Amino acid sequence: MRQSYRTRRIALPPRYREFKPRGVHARKLRNTYLSIDEYEALRLADYVKLEHAEAAKCMNISRPTFTRLVEKARGQIATAIVEGCRLIVRGGNVEFERTIRRCRHCGEEKAVPMVSPESECPDCGSGDVEDLAREDALE
Ligand SMILES: [Zn+2]
Repeated sequence: MRQSYRTRRIALPPRYREFKPRGVHARKLRNTYLSIDEYEALRLADYVKLEHAEAAKCMNISRPTFTRLVEKARGQIATAIVEGCRLIVRGGNVEFERTIRRCRHCGEEKAVPMVSPESECPDCGSGDVEDLAREDALE
C-alpha cells in the first residue's frame, strides 16, 4: 500500500504532457513517467532556479522531500533522453493554485483561478475550451 503524504501545491498545471523521440512509432517506445509534483519540483529548481528550501515552501513540502522530487525528475528525464523513451507527465497527489484554460479552436491559453466559471475563449469566442487542471483530475 502506498504511504499517504501531504498534497503538493502546484502553481499551474503542466501545458505539455507528452514528449517522444522524433520518427519512432509510439507503440515501439517504452514509456517513462514524470508525476506532476516531480514536474513542478523540476520547474522550480531548474527553470525558475529557486533555492530548494524556498521552492519546498511554494509546494508546501519539506526541503528533503523537494530534493527527492527533483532528483527523481532528473532521473526520469535522463532515462527518456538517453534510452529514447516516451515521457508522459501525469499523476501525483497535487492541488493547483490556478488552472489554464486552452481554446481547442485557436490555441489561446489563459491562467485563471480554479473556481472560475466556464467561459468562452476571450480571443476567438469559441466555447470549446479545455481546463488543463481538470484533465489531471481524471488521471
Ligand atoms: Zn479561441
